[in-house]
Amino acid sequence: MRVISACLCGINCKYNGDNNQHDEFMKELRDGQVLPLCPEQLGGLTTPRSACEIEGGTGEDVLAGRARVINAVGDDVTEFFVKGAQECLAVMRQAGIDEAVLQRRSPSCGVEKIYDGSFSGHLIAGDGVTAALLRKHGIKVWNDEDYLQHKGEV
Ligand code: SF4
Repeated sequence: MRVISACLCGINCKYNGDNNQHDEFMKELRDGQVLPLCPEQLGGLTTPRSACEIEGGTGEDVLAGRARVINAVGDDVTEFFVKGAQECLAVMRQAGIDEAVLQRRSPSCGVEKIYDGSFSGHLIAGDGVTAALLRKHGIKVWNDEDYLQHKGEV
């Protein structure tokens, strides 16, 4: 069993009320191989919501108090992102799950690459807040593209 970003399984939890559905992940969902979670919804944010990015660093920096998460209208939404990450970790611990496949580039779920906080499409190296917390606690995190490549699906 793996956790998966819920938007990859057709759940309309993206900031714009849409999803990132992919056939392979829908198959894994139907086969009972994955548990879909959306950290931003678990953290208490509404859907739809304003797009968000990490300002001044990465998810690891947010967890350390050195950076914050802001939305496109300038509100500080850091507490929602930290809470969502903690909720994901708590569910995974309770369920004994130690692997997660996460949607690339998200300020929550992004693995190894995230937007730079300028809302201009520029990427920097680093994890989103949830990916950083899971990694810190020894959970294997994949971004969706690398996972599919590993499986030989792309
Ligand atoms: S927080 Fe993660 S699961 Fe939720 S919509 Fe964003 S990328 Fe998908």
